Amino acid sequence: MNARPLMFFGTTNLDLCFNVERLPTPGESLIGALTRHPGGKGANQAVAAAQLGLKPLFYTRLGDDDAGKSLLKSLTDAGVCTDAITVCAGEVSGLAMVMVADDGTNMIVIEPGANSKVAPDMIESAANFIERDTIVVAEMGMPIPALNRLFEMKREKGFELIFNPAPVRPGLPSAAWRSVDFVTPNQTETFELTGLEVYDFESAARAAEKLLDLGPGAALITLGAQGAYYADRTGSFSLRAFPVKVVDTTAAGDAFNGAFAASLAQRLPLKEAVRKALAVAALCVTRRGAQSSMPTAQAVDEFLQ
Ligand code: ADP
Repeated sequence: MNARPLMFFGTTNLDLCFNVERLPTPGESLIGALTRHPGGKGANQAVAAAQLGLKPLFYTRLGDDDAGKSLLKSLTDAGVCTDAITVCAGEVSGLAMVMVADDGTNMIVIEPGANSKVAPDMIESAANFIERDTIVVAEMGMPIPALNRLFEMKREKGFELIFNPAPVRPGLPSAAWRSVDFVTPNQTETFELTGLEVYDFESAARAAEKLLDLGPGAALITLGAQGAYYADRTGSFSLRAFPVKVVDTTAAGDAFNGAFAASLAQRLPLKEAVRKALAVAALCVTRRGAQSSMPTAQAVDEFLQ
């Protein structure tokens, strides 16, 4: 059976990655080794899906600077369909400063650049390409008016919508949550949305109930090294993370979201889609970088054997 159409809406950044022994404390200067990598939540998710053998359509906005050119090329090289990407003269592309410590923890600061200029009309331009069967993935790094237009379009067209509420920001109308089929926060985002701490599957169950009160069809909470917790109004399940040696947790959530969407597009049953997302995210944290750490379908199949 053919895969369902898959679209990602979100941000693209050039990641300036500093590898440091440990994260700095306020006021402290550290020496680190700098490397540059393509990143941004939307782009990372789209690449994770493309690595699994899909050709997702990616909506994002780039500047026509050197960063934008290299980001566009890396997306094309990774197998993402870049036909819908807007490149704007005179704008700067998104930049992220990422610090990764030897124990795999990270800190990130973002200059959104062109990402912050995505307007509702860019979302409008996607309308003709969206079918009922399409899976759409959005993240909260996009400007709220654009996101809101996407959520309205969901009510008009009825596609399936996965929403990664990262980074959590105010301003989304409460009605928007009812457009969401799957909301996929990590522990921090769950706390920001519900006020409830998530530290194990039991606390995740309580937080998922509160997330469902916001209006989405289902809540899928990621709990880092512990795994993921799923709940909708008919039931729930939890799956443990695969034990791996952590090198760099950058983009673990993006790997999870991209792989979850890709697995649904490949028509895997829900629980299997979550399991595959856990496997892809586990492999992602065993490698350095964001998009460069997304595993291929073959690597995931071998890992799961
Ligand atoms: P984010 O990267 O958005 O903060 P999480 O930290 O919750 O999100 O990680 C997302 C997913 O990545 C987890 O559900 C898990 O599948 C995987 N993951 C993260 N850290 C580890 C780890 N140490 N070992 C195995 N899998 C991990």
